[in-house]
This record gives sequence, C-alpha cells and structure tokens, in this order.
Amino acid sequence: MKVQIAGIKDVSLIDVCGEPSLTIWFCGCNLKCPYCHNWRVAEVFESTCYSAELSEIYFAIESASSIVDYIHVTGGEPTEQVVQLQQIFEFAKSVGLRTSINTNCSNPSTIESLLRKELVDHLATDVKAPPDLMTGLPRDEALRYWRSFIKTLRLVREHDVILELRIPVLKYGAVGSELVASLKNYLMEALSTIEGVSKVDLVLNPILGPPVVDSVRNPEWCSKYAVPGMRDIELAEALVKPLYSRASTRLAQHASLIHLSP
Ligand code: SF4
Repeated sequence: MKVQIAGIKDVSLIDVCGEPSLTIWFCGCNLKCPYCHNWRVAEVFESTCYSAELSEIYFAIESASSIVDYIHVTGGEPTEQVVQLQQIFEFAKSVGLRTSINTNCSNPSTIESLLRKELVDHLATDVKAPPDLMTGLPRDEALRYWRSFIKTLRLVREHDVILELRIPVLKYGAVGSELVASLKNYLMEALSTIEGVSKVDLVLNPILGPPVVDSVRNPEWCSKYAVPGMRDIELAEALVKPLYSRASTRLAQHASLIHLSP
C-alpha cells in the first residue's frame, strides 16, 4: 500500500514536547487556512508530494527506533489517509515507539477509532478560532468544523492523551474588538473542555507571514492579521490564563522569528 507524503525527517527535536521523534508529513488537507505555510502539502502539489510504499516508511521507522521515542505524523491532515495512518501507528507500536499526531481535529471518528485501539499517545492541535476567520471555510462549514474540534478535545480528555494545544496569536488590532470578544468565547469553550486532561502543553503560536515566511496560502490575509508583536502575545497570554486553571504558556519554537512592534 502507498501513502502520499511530502517527506520524512529522521530525527526532530521540536515536534513532540522536546522528545526526539521521526516526523512524517502526510499530504492532503480538508481545510483552507489562509495562513497555511504548508499549503502545497495540503493541496497535494506534484512538485511537493510523492507516493511512498508503507514498507519504505516501516524501514525508516525501524532504522530510527533506537534514537527516537516517538513517531509523529503531521501534514496536511493525517486523518485524510486513515488506513495508512493506522498501519503506520500499528507498526510504530510494534517496534516499541510512542505515537503522536498533529491534526486539525476535523475527523473525530477517526481519532476515536485510533484512541480506542490505544494507537495515539500525544495529540497536537491548533485552536482555530474564530473558525470562519482561521479555517478559510464558509461560515456554516467553519462552525461545523468547530463542533468536530470540540468533540475531538472531549475524546482527548476521555482517553487522557498528552495534549499540545497551540493558540494562534494574531494582530489583535486588525482583528477588532468584536472578534477578540468572540475569540475569548471560543477559547473558553476549548479550555473548559480539556479541564481534567493530565498533561497539557499550552503554546502561544504567533501566526507568521511575509516577510518572515514567504510561502503562505493567502499573503493578503497575512499582511492584515499575521506577524503579531509582543503586545499581542501578552494579550493572548492574558486571555488564556484566567480561562484555564493550570495555565502555564510557552511560545512556539519559531516565535523568535517574529518582528517585534516598536
Ligand atoms: S494549517 Fe494545517 S489544517 Fe490548515 S490548511 Fe494548512 S495543513 Fe490544513
């Protein structure tokens, strides 16, 4: 069987809470996030994606198994190739590795099936809120997506999986006070849903765009909302902390790249 991927990194130290992982980029995604810098992977560009035999992936996993602790799949959206995803996680478990998925949480039934089979140890996701601004979907679809996101967070709580929850930080001045108020309500719902999860890593994730990152799906959107300054990051932290009893936030690894406001 083949899987559409954009690449494999044999050893990564930044994808799973500082633990060494072998990371695989799955191609294809069902969202259209305007700030997506992996949009060629998401849209399965021929120049970016290729078909790999699962046997090649297994060989890479087995070769890395003495130096990494996790197999991490990201994308794109890995649940779009569910059969291959499950088989890769089953193989990883068979050689004694832990498993991690970076998902947009739009496919709760797939995540539930993997969780029931004890195939996911760590799940990373973004709070794409407000969903119509962040997902690039029409409002009705974006709101349906949000319900799937919350359903997935409930599953994470029920199965007590290690969770990395990334909170996108924008230029809040451009977002406007009404949307910031609505963002607070979405955050409140997400953070109250994960109360009780034993291990949560809350990450403030400044959304980047040109000139810091060239390749984004929608440069116009990014010139308006992306590359926040320190004041925006402080505002995001101030929004999050009162909403989550165990809040202790950190900045995403690439945050050092952001341009600070004067
Ligand atoms: S940011 Fe993630 S979820 Fe959004 S389009 Fe890109 S790959 Fe898909």
